[in-house]
Amino acid sequence: MGKSTGFMEYKREAPAKKDPLARVKNWQEFTILMPEDKLSEQGARCMDCAIPFCQAGTTMDGSAEIGCPVHNLIPEWNDLVYRGKWKEALERLHKTNNFPEFTGRVCPAPCEGSCTVAISDDPVSIKSIEFHIVEKGFKEGWIKPEPPKKRTGKKVAVIGSGPAGLAAAAQLNKAGHTVTVFEKDDRVGGLLTYGIPDVKLSFEVLQRRVRLLEEEGITFVTNTEIGKDYPAEKLNEEFDSTILCTGAQVPRDVPAKGRDLKGIHYAMEFLKKNTKSLLDSNHQDQNYLSAKGKNVIVIGGGDTGVDCITTSLRHGCESLVQFDIHPEKNKDREPLNPWPLFPVVYSQEDGHKEAEAVFGKDPRAYKLQTTKFVGDENGNVKELHTVEVDTVYENGKKLRKEIPGTERAWKADLVLLAIGFTGPEKHLLDELKVETTERSTVDAEYGKYSTNVEGVFAAGDNRRGQSLVVWAIHEGREAAREVDRYLMGSSNLP
Ligand SMILES: Cc1cc2nc3c(=O)[nH]c(=O)nc-3n(C[C@H](O)[C@H](O)[C@H](O)COP(=O)(O)OP(=O)(O)OC[C@H]3O[C@@H](n4cnc5c(N)ncnc54)[C@H](O)[C@@H]3O)c2cc1C
Ligand code: SF4
Repeated sequence: MGKSTGFMEYKREAPAKKDPLARVKNWQEFTILMPEDKLSEQGARCMDCAIPFCQAGTTMDGSAEIGCPVHNLIPEWNDLVYRGKWKEALERLHKTNNFPEFTGRVCPAPCEGSCTVAISDDPVSIKSIEFHIVEKGFKEGWIKPEPPKKRTGKKVAVIGSGPAGLAAAAQLNKAGHTVTVFEKDDRVGGLLTYGIPDVKLSFEVLQRRVRLLEEEGITFVTNTEIGKDYPAEKLNEEFDSTILCTGAQVPRDVPAKGRDLKGIHYAMEFLKKNTKSLLDSNHQDQNYLSAKGKNVIVIGGGDTGVDCITTSLRHGCESLVQFDIHPEKNKDREPLNPWPLFPVVYSQEDGHKEAEAVFGKDPRAYKLQTTKFVGDENGNVKELHTVEVDTVYENGKKLRKEIPGTERAWKADLVLLAIGFTGPEKHLLDELKVETTERSTVDAEYGKYSTNVEGVFAAGDNRRGQSLVVWAIHEGREAAREVDRYLMGSSNLP
């Protein structure tokens, strides 16, 4: 432990961000690295509290999350950063996390919600320290390709290049297996590339890591959908094992009257086309759904909805509202959400702050259920009707009870549906005869990752359901260990 009184001497500080009004005029990342002496103070705030809930990475009651899913050795690198030992901190960080530059940017930091200092004060700025350690590592040239010294002669196919697939590939390659990653999109990264907007995690940052993985010996095959461009049965002939990391990107619909009107799109269509056009041509090809001059309504109060906000603002939308079906959260934890669980409290995401800067108010509207979409004479959406609802539980079932007299119409020419995902695409699973659960996810036990098909494993969102980048990395790493054990009889992978 660096400084025993650090948590009493220093207040929490987080990196500054570029001014919202300025940053919505471009597509660049906007978090500014903190000065190192400031980060050293933040490292000193860690109490090294003996039971580091921050790195627990577990769930209670099957869903409530505690601490860092990849079990980052947080108190250790906090101490090293306090002492200025950045290279050692980087080594500790890479022991548990293949891609801290992704999590340091986009992780919602369940570690901080479980930090012991957070019982009575603001948590240690864990995510910012992680971000800085890895960025310093790249700047100083400490992060270099480390190909395995020996090859095992075993071949593994990883299907899908999101964070689960990339982590699985990195670990299996470390163990000496020959790894090929297949990706149906034209670029690798999964939702890191075509979901999370470039302003939060730039493609250049993703590519910087992928180049290292290539230099370490991993082969990436893009524009190749397994089950369509490459027959699924060939996997068995050409590889000793397969890991399915295909994500869970089938979107949930809003089955209200008027849904087929023009101008109503799934969030992922909007986000993906935007990023592709940005990366292909800096938007010169116009091959995206523009929000410019439009009254935009985003249905869905989660992260995907916020990404639609940041994107619409940068297009120059006329107005913006984000519907949330839940009531506004309290600023403090509810009794059923105590420390060290992930805090379910009110917060303003970067996109909300940007919208407030542009339009003068937070864009969120709460407790709203969409009842119908109304179109003009050309079949374009022009209005959206809602009613307020209370969420109640009867006999263990979640119900939405309409509140009479709360009906309302909203002007809209672009509606983005961001209410989650129903699970992974089925056709490849059917072709491989891989069984699924009643939630439509791949039936592979957590910790084992093997499916009902010999030699076929699954990790990430397709097994877990739509989750977080850090959980995908965790599952990719663990599944790699299980594949290594399957191929070699035992494994030294963590
Ligand atoms: C818009 C959006 C924003 C998000 N923001 C955040 C965030 O800020 N922080 C966070 O922690 N999490 C965020 N998430 C969640 C996070 O991105 C996912 O949990 C994570 O990417 C899951 O990783 P994965 O590797 O399992 O799947 P994915 O990232 O979905 O990758 C799956 C890949 O498999 C490919 N694929 C599928 N089928 C085939 C096939 N048959 N052949 C070849 N390739 C195939 C797909 O094209 C895709 O590239 C966000 C999710 C969305 C939708
Ligand atoms: S990966 Fe996420 S949970 Fe883990 S230390 Fe980093 S920010 Fe915290």
